[in-house]
Amino acid sequence: MTRIFELSELIRTDNFIGGRWVPAADGARFAVTDPATDELIAQVADSGAADARAATDAAAAALPAWRETLPKTRAEILRRWHALIVANQDVLGALISREQGKPLAEGRGEVAYGASYVAWFAEEATRIYGDLIPQQQRGKRMSAVKEPIGIVAAITPWNFPLAMIARKIAPALAAGCTVVGKPAEDTPLTASALVMLAHEAGVPAGVLNLITTSRERAVPAVADWLHDARVRKITFTGSTAVGKYLARESADTLKKLSLELGGNAPFIVFDDADLEAAVAGLMVSKFRNGGQTCVCPNRVYVQSGVFERFAALLGERVSALKVGPASDERSQIGPMINARAVDKIARHVDDALTRGARIVTGGKRLTELGSHYYAPTVLADADPSMQLYCEETFGPVVPLFRFETESEAVQAANATPYGLAAYFYSNDIKRIERVSGALEAGIVGINEGALSSEAAPFGGIKESGYGREGSKYGLDDYLSIKYLCQGNLQ
Ligand code: ADP
Repeated sequence: MTRIFELSELIRTDNFIGGRWVPAADGARFAVTDPATDELIAQVADSGAADARAATDAAAAALPAWRETLPKTRAEILRRWHALIVANQDVLGALISREQGKPLAEGRGEVAYGASYVAWFAEEATRIYGDLIPQQQRGKRMSAVKEPIGIVAAITPWNFPLAMIARKIAPALAAGCTVVGKPAEDTPLTASALVMLAHEAGVPAGVLNLITTSRERAVPAVADWLHDARVRKITFTGSTAVGKYLARESADTLKKLSLELGGNAPFIVFDDADLEAAVAGLMVSKFRNGGQTCVCPNRVYVQSGVFERFAALLGERVSALKVGPASDERSQIGPMINARAVDKIARHVDDALTRGARIVTGGKRLTELGSHYYAPTVLADADPSMQLYCEETFGPVVPLFRFETESEAVQAANATPYGLAAYFYSNDIKRIERVSGALEAGIVGINEGALSSEAAPFGGIKESGYGREGSKYGLDDYLSIKYLCQGNLQ
């Protein structure tokens, strides 16, 4: 029977190492707070290098047996984990909303989304095929087999506290790797709950280990993994600056890296687009999680012939959004994650206004709701001199840039070091062919704002990183290829 837990049973405040919940070696703790109210939720283990090392020791001890389990056994465990996540969707969703701030419907939606990766990789576990290479010489057989890469370190951000870590742990376990993980300091509780359910599902002791750290202690704890030659892979989702640091700092042990980093997604609306559909697509892609996603459109380019009409339509929809805490079922936009995040949004909007942007709607903090709220905002007449042009705002702000020609729009869209997602709306089939080919991005939405799916390869190019999560490619990052050459067969 799939057990349903109470919230209090799912809240874990210690590290999970070698199948046991243990405090940090030196007993340190840090506070996790509710971004809607600043209230304390829990004091969790603040781990250091010694805890990271203990997690690696446990993962190393568990690796030989785990990599030898039959793929169908690993698939069964993953399927049980999936069933537990789905059965506990409401309580996990509430926990996500509590520590991260997103509306309840989105919290529940994230649980389903994260769970879909677990189901996907349960299936993929049994499809790790190798090759028998066509014969080159009589008496010689050449083949390629795929093997688990070894211990995987997973480091995740706060914006999807469940989905980001699920889509790293699930393929790692499916491949036969063992895992050491560290969730973001703002949202460690969901990750710990998820790990508890994995244990309940039968993941053996030591196969999956999780430590929590404050921002400060993330550095020494993670550095221990970066320098430990037993850790063979780092999978990271977060900022480009930290991704580059992880690549540099781990270079001495030449680990395999998957880096899903920042974006600065363009969203282009051509004159020939279905404007209603474009507005609907922008609302979905931009305002999910209050604009705190790495595939959120950050720069919206609208062709001059439809600019004013699009701005007016969008302004109407955005001003109707209901802002409030997740505890209010009607809320569509929650608080931002922390004070640093709201300050950045306010800085971007203020800078744009002093440089000539025009407010269509919003443009201010909502202090009457609490210290972390910002009004959903549309700014017209944005230009490249503004901070929000080259930095990710990561909040509910849509800057509208006007353009005249297709080549101007494509050039502007690509004029960024990033290349994660890009979107465009057009009804001209030839333009669709040209523009989808020309956009420098790992993910392109064509007349569509909702792109995420466990069946699709998610990841970027340029300084948005490398590696792909989900799809039939998602396991490759956790496997290495061994070439076997057998001679003297005749
Ligand atoms: P964000 O700006 O969204 O917080 P970060 O890249 O700063 O993104 O953080 C993503 C994850 O990386 C978090 O788990 C965070 O604790 C971790 N992290 C941040 N800085 C470091 C660092 N110097 N060393 C190791 N981990 C880090």
